[in-house]
Amino acid sequence: MSDAGRALECRRCGRPVRVGRQNYELFEGMHYVCFHYEFEHDPADPDEDCGVAGCPSAPAARHKERLLGEVRQLLADWSDGPPANWDNTTLPDYLEALAGWLNDCDGYYQSRGLPVPWNGWEVTAAAMRAATLYE
Ligand SMILES: [Zn+2]
Ligand SMILES: [Zn+2]
Repeated sequence: MSDAGRALECRRCGRPVRVGRQNYELFEGMHYVCFHYEFEHDPADPDEDCGVAGCPSAPAARHKERLLGEVRQLLADWSDGPPANWDNTTLPDYLEALAGWLNDCDGYYQSRGLPVPWNGWEVTAAAMRAATLYE
């Protein structure tokens, strides 16, 4: 990385951008959070969830509900035995895929031009679904 030693500064808040440097240009020279409140969050109240995925104001309770829904959906997939659309249908295979996906989740989000969600509930829900297929 040629700019690895250069200090990047957020255009909105003036603080250094240390995390997600690869997204610095994508977010127009801002922190992801600064970019979100500058361009995506309006007209929602800054303290309230605006509904955009990854909104920093989304309450943890909502993410917990989503994760719970994902887990219930995964369980429902098994109502007729091993699901045809899962590659990892044994617990060791599934857990190995889960660990592998989590280990590489920076790459997963980066390849989609997204920051790793700050909210662990959100990452966990994505990981649990991805591990059904991940190798
Ligand atoms: Zn900022
Ligand atoms: Zn928002």
